[in-house]
Amino acid sequence: MKTHNLGYPRIGSQRELKKASEKYWSGKIPLQELLDTGKRLRLENWKLQQNAGIDLIPSNDFSYYDQVLDMTMVVGAIPDRYRPLQNGLEQELYFAMARGYQQEGLDITAMEMTKWFDTNYHYIVPEFSKDQTFKLSSTKVPDEFKEAKEQDMLTKPVIIGPVSYLLLGKEKEEGFDRLDLMDRLLPVYLELLGQLQELGAEWVQLDEPFLAMDLGPKVKDVYRNVYNEIQKKFPHIKILVATYFEGLRDNLDWAISLPVHALHIDLMRDPKQLDFVLKKIPDNLMLSLGLVDGRNIWKNDFANTLEIIRKTASEIGEERILLAPSCSLIHVPCDLYLETNEAVLTPEIKNWLAFARQKLEELSLLKSLSTGEDHALILLQFEQNQQAAASRKASTLIHDPQVKDRVSRIGEGDTKRASAFSKRSELQHQHLNLPLFPTTTIGSFPQTTEIRQLRARFKKGKISKEDYQAELEKLTLEAVRLQEEIDLDILVHGEFERNDMVEYFGEQLEGFVFTKNGWVQSYGSRCVKPPIIYGDVSRSHAMTVNWSSYAQSSTHKTVKGMLTGPVTILQWSFVRDDQPIAQTCWQIALGIRDEVMDLEAAGIKAIQVDEPAIREGLPLRKSDWDHYLQWAVKAFRVATSAGKDETQIHTHMCYSEFNDIIKSIAEMDADVITIECSRSQMELLDAFGDFNYPNQIGPGVYDIHSPRIPSQGEMVVLLKKAAKVIPPGQLWVNPDCGLKTRQWDETKKALIQMVAAAKEMRQYVDKPK
Ligand code: GLN
Ligand code: ZN
Repeated sequence: MKTHNLGYPRIGSQRELKKASEKYWSGKIPLQELLDTGKRLRLENWKLQQNAGIDLIPSNDFSYYDQVLDMTMVVGAIPDRYRPLQNGLEQELYFAMARGYQQEGLDITAMEMTKWFDTNYHYIVPEFSKDQTFKLSSTKVPDEFKEAKEQDMLTKPVIIGPVSYLLLGKEKEEGFDRLDLMDRLLPVYLELLGQLQELGAEWVQLDEPFLAMDLGPKVKDVYRNVYNEIQKKFPHIKILVATYFEGLRDNLDWAISLPVHALHIDLMRDPKQLDFVLKKIPDNLMLSLGLVDGRNIWKNDFANTLEIIRKTASEIGEERILLAPSCSLIHVPCDLYLETNEAVLTPEIKNWLAFARQKLEELSLLKSLSTGEDHALILLQFEQNQQAAASRKASTLIHDPQVKDRVSRIGEGDTKRASAFSKRSELQHQHLNLPLFPTTTIGSFPQTTEIRQLRARFKKGKISKEDYQAELEKLTLEAVRLQEEIDLDILVHGEFERNDMVEYFGEQLEGFVFTKNGWVQSYGSRCVKPPIIYGDVSRSHAMTVNWSSYAQSSTHKTVKGMLTGPVTILQWSFVRDDQPIAQTCWQIALGIRDEVMDLEAAGIKAIQVDEPAIREGLPLRKSDWDHYLQWAVKAFRVATSAGKDETQIHTHMCYSEFNDIIKSIAEMDADVITIECSRSQMELLDAFGDFNYPNQIGPGVYDIHSPRIPSQGEMVVLLKKAAKVIPPGQLWVNPDCGLKTRQWDETKKALIQMVAAAKEMRQYVDKPK
């Protein structure tokens, strides 16, 4: 039995790579310093994994930006627009592809970025043209293998498998299927494997996560051909094919017969697949068991896991087993040992957790325990693990009978507004007295350096709570005045008090804890620190009422309350694994419901409940969609349905693509939905139009991700386009998303144009009957 790892976080336990990259990009350090940081991190990570007792340590899991972009460099799939940079520095080209390039008279856009399956990690999408060619163009993979070998470590290079690589990309022109590029791509992979064989690589891990996804009929043949070729050419390299994030399910029969040396399966996401795999596994195939959760931060329960290992061993023999995390560890924070602030993370809860480094230690222990290497120290560690599991099960911190009871009593009536939309909309019309094409924004206003510094000073105790509040009030008031001046119809308070839309609520709800250093890479140098939901969630006090009331009391116009929805709070946190996530989501929903009631009682007439993450929460397999959408929509309805008919509920979603879930969006029954739309030139609205979406819609009329100021004219064009698909009486006018990343100057100018566009539209159409 061997242990191996699929990938280790490369950001550095102190975010060293982030810091060095950003300094390099802004010209503060030379390239060499960034490269030295990279090298140091690789060596540290290898040593750390060696010390943890991992048998097969990965290489090429390091990346300066993204592993898919690395692969694009390796196979030379450089889009034409970067040609001017191709003869220069490799790193300059690489970062230009990731981040765009505006220098020396060149203005080249970045490659597209999208979410890596259902994680919060974003990868750079490969771009393919019809006459795409490939050429081995980077020495990164062999270089890193050699680098480790110099330290006497024979690593297992980790490479994105050829089929998944093509599937991850996009056709940039019509008339071909990217899978047909395999004939040209495969030789490059073979050449690369040849180099690795030459250097003495024994194992190579090819990541093929698509083996666990819904696949069309053609892919199966491509997979078979590709792995037959590899096997024919390199019978002596041990190829490990890694699947993760889902079970093999309907692909099992043929995937398991691919001619490879070992297959990795994710037993956290799909524990049941093991029985089927054991039934079908060919005699010569080794099995890598993904038993330590690479997507969450809970300690492994050794008793359970040992049971699974024993069962597998009795079927296929110990020597055919590899023990592994369920997926690469880049989706969890680096090292729990760095969490030493007990005021932030109490020892009791800390004892339930394991980050990347601890997960590797768990793997080693599991191996020792299952191979009978059970001397005193190891047995002690087993005991400690079981005590932690027992302490978590029994902890009074986790279980709140009142919360559980309240969730169990959620009935039909708690998920429905008092009246149907048609009646509500009439009442709201009188109550809010809004013009046609009402204008509003999505919630946040610029989070300037001053605000960030103010918050940092407050957190460090350098200014008093009173002074902090006073500053925030000043900012809020200024924002209200500005919105009045611009003549927006529904105002917002600006969200100046919020660092992050999930953290702000998590910090105030029961059942959440935070870390000091639990960073996870989101994309490139950007890292996030997800909250941890460890127990039953409840709300003990109002969270936003003061701010909304303060803003409302300073104006005659309506100020919209601003909340984050239950699905988004859930989706952007590490969640409990000891109850179905729907339960956790409904608990959060009840907390938000109470907040909605408090806002309403305080005189807030419109309340927005943001759900930007509802789309990304969709399961990877389509057959699981319905179940998810049912509990997610229910959570939103629980959160928003308690108010009076007059209270106007808004929601907001970004990241578009609603066509396939439009029915569920309608079922959320928000009075107004604002969506990201401008980059797709309102095309997105077709889904709403075709569906006859009944409620009101605010299609974003300008892109807030860019500093560019849109003109009144171009927004009018977009609104006219929208008015062709959606009856004008249903349309709102607003930006794409929150304005927190923008500057004040841009924001003002853009909103002035936007309001002018709405006014022009009011002239343009007659009031609908
Ligand atoms: N209300 C939030 C904001 O304006 C919404 C952010 C989001 O959609 N991601 O910032
Ligand atoms: Zn948004």
